Amino acid sequence: MTVWAARDYARAVTGGTGAVKCGGNDGGTLLAMMQSTRQGCDQVVWLDAAERRWVEEMGTSNLFFVYGSRLLTPCLTGTLLPGITRASLLELAGDLGYEAEEAPISVEQWRTDAGAGRLTEVFSCGTSSMVTPVGRVKTAEDEWVIGDGRPGKVTMRLREEFMGIQSGERPDPYGWMHKVI
Ligand SMILES: *Cc1c(COP(=O)(O)O)cnc(C)c1O
Repeated sequence: MTVWAARDYARAVTGGTGAVKCGGNDGGTLLAMMQSTRQGCDQVVWLDAAERRWVEEMGTSNLFFVYGSRLLTPCLTGTLLPGITRASLLELAGDLGYEAEEAPISVEQWRTDAGAGRLTEVFSCGTSSMVTPVGRVKTAEDEWVIGDGRPGKVTMRLREEFMGIQSGERPDPYGWMHKVI
């Protein structure tokens, strides 16, 4: 995916409803989505409403940043959705031998770390999109590539393990799977 970091619009504010999945959050996102499409991007990356600097999440998915074998996902500040896929991957990643932590990450850090090669992969995660690699980022001023722009090995490993548990092909030591009949 190529993603658009939205500076002109914000999805949620402190004291608002950003941490829940409610229809009221979506109306205000449409203009940014149109802007993103016009820029040739697939998804909008939402930044914090106050400074438009801290990365929060995407429209229907959370974000993970991969630094070699260390994974980072933005902290739950109340303005992003605490996705179940995000929580599951934090747990799964630890058990697969990755270091996984919740920490703030800014757009500047994203750009600088990708440029320096420290940030090796970025992916989004959510029920609808599973684990999806992000290869390129665009803002109003510039754009940059993560790694070689193609799906990375940590992303694809997590995707495979996670989807394996979901499909029942792999054992589920977490109790995530439930019989519904
Ligand atoms: C649904 C959604 C997510 C992902 O949540 P899951 O529980 O993993 O599906 C992330 N952000 C937003 C804004 C969402 O609507």
